[in-house]
Amino acid sequence: MQTPIVGIDLGTTNSVVSILEDKLPKTLLVDGQKLLPSVVCLTTDGMLVGKVAKNMAILEPENTVASIKRKMGQDVEITIGNRQMRPEEVSAVILQKIRQAVLDHYQLAADAIVKAVITVPAYFTEEQREATKQAAELAKLQVERIINEPTAAALAYGMSHLEETILAIYDLGGGTFDISIIESDAGLVEVRATTGNNQLGGDDFDALLAAKIWEDFLATNKLGNIAASRKEQARLNRIAEQTKIKLSTSESVDIQESFFFKTNDTNYHLEQTITRKDFEALIHDKVAETVTHLAKAIDEADLTKADLAGIILVGGSSRIPLVSQLIEAQLKMKPVLIDLPDEAVAHGATIQGAIINKLDIDTVLVDITPHSLGVAVIDDLTYSMENVMELMKQKEAIEAGEAKEEDFPDDLAAAAIITKNSPIPIKKSSFFHASSPFQKKYLIEVFQGEGERFHENRIIGEARLEVKDPVEDGKIEVTFELDINGLLKLTAVETSSKVEVKATFQSSKGKKMRKSQLKEVEVLSIEVTENTLIKRAEALLVIPTIDAEDKEELQTLVDSYRTAEANEAVEELAKLEDEILDLLYYLEKAEA
Ligand code: AMP
Repeated sequence: MQTPIVGIDLGTTNSVVSILEDKLPKTLLVDGQKLLPSVVCLTTDGMLVGKVAKNMAILEPENTVASIKRKMGQDVEITIGNRQMRPEEVSAVILQKIRQAVLDHYQLAADAIVKAVITVPAYFTEEQREATKQAAELAKLQVERIINEPTAAALAYGMSHLEETILAIYDLGGGTFDISIIESDAGLVEVRATTGNNQLGGDDFDALLAAKIWEDFLATNKLGNIAASRKEQARLNRIAEQTKIKLSTSESVDIQESFFFKTNDTNYHLEQTITRKDFEALIHDKVAETVTHLAKAIDEADLTKADLAGIILVGGSSRIPLVSQLIEAQLKMKPVLIDLPDEAVAHGATIQGAIINKLDIDTVLVDITPHSLGVAVIDDLTYSMENVMELMKQKEAIEAGEAKEEDFPDDLAAAAIITKNSPIPIKKSSFFHASSPFQKKYLIEVFQGEGERFHENRIIGEARLEVKDPVEDGKIEVTFELDINGLLKLTAVETSSKVEVKATFQSSKGKKMRKSQLKEVEVLSIEVTENTLIKRAEALLVIPTIDAEDKEELQTLVDSYRTAEANEAVEELAKLEDEILDLLYYLEKAEA
């Protein structure tokens, strides 16, 4: 076969490797997972990399190294177990693991050439870039190019095909936050400004949530003020991250962990409900800080938000709904969450690799909508004092016969349902509340454009809906379906009576954009390690000195694991695997 060319996002928290398949970038699973934790652990059997090493980090901090990216380019040595290693050597261990996954995937010999494009933050100095290159060479990768992460994200977004476009790339990952303003001109993609906070990311959100869970747990059980042990902390961190991820799509999460804590022979279980609001209150200030950086970056690049074609969100933590909400509230511009936000940078690197090697990448053009489409809504401004005063004057004019009612449209807000640059065809819905109790008539006015106020946009039509038996708090669901010819089909349904209205409008036509890697990658599959995991668990189950309750907990987990395995419940398996690992490390350590 041809020499493989891969894209590598060598991240602070996680690394991702992507290959070209069917002319599209695709994430290659390493140890059955898309994200390989950038953690290295030294054991008597050699180096461990990834999830297993990450679990060791809590219990054997002296033998593990995480976040080595922060030290790249520094003239230092890190002590890991009984060894001294330079940052590039530690990174090389991670890259070796990645190279091995590539060799395995293509069934290549150990000495085969693997070409790589590796990404680094835009603010990386020459020394840091050079150290990254050396790490790759130590790992026997042939470095094709080192490129900037935001550039890679823009390539994944399809930017090299957009003429003269300026985008803001907002990248909120596990341990770092970066914001870059980038410009493309005739296929050339360039970083114009970059800023951020390299000590801010999803890990901080996990820590805040873990602390809250622990505090609430102690308070509920009247346990006073106790510090969590390593075992509890390990579990808390895992629970916090899982809860945080679920809260990106659910309004609330019920946490249930049996045998969470034991004191004076009493077992305590962890049972808590965390709502999205609770979580948002914890992280609000940190997210607000990122939005301030974003506004500053636009300013520093001598731009206004009107110059931007879009704000693109990448990085796993960008999936948190509060991120989009705060950006939109402050900048009055809806950001676009890139497809597969934690894989996009690696995918962009693969696209760059394909371009360098003149490989064919998918050139199918996708249509995107050049404008946002939405409806008029009442907001606080509509009834602001100023507007009310104006309304009174208008009323007098109408009563005096000097004007007609239709001369004075209300000052309504523009609520976008489909946002600018969305690939089409697309179908999206939003809910709206009635403006008064027992409202019978709804007027749905449709616009296209980016203005914040309804009247600043192009009005493309309206639809009316009437309900016979209105309810006190009426609600309608408005669905927009936009086809590639710009034809917009509207369906509005009053949710209690199910009365509906349909209408069709013509909006401006879409423009062409080359298709990037919008395809979903396949469902996770779990490989290796589990068998050894169960073997280790079984070995512990027969040791007489181990506490009976710990054994019971382990046995329950092992049984659940076997059931999940039989049912091929992949997500459940991954969760159980984590739980078993947490417990194993604790028990093994206690036995050692
Ligand atoms: P990255 O460095 O881009 O891989 O991002 C990793 C961070 O994203 C970790 O802190 C994850 O916990 C976080 N993350 C991943 N998926 C989600 C999600 N759906 N909601 C919130 N955070 C997430």
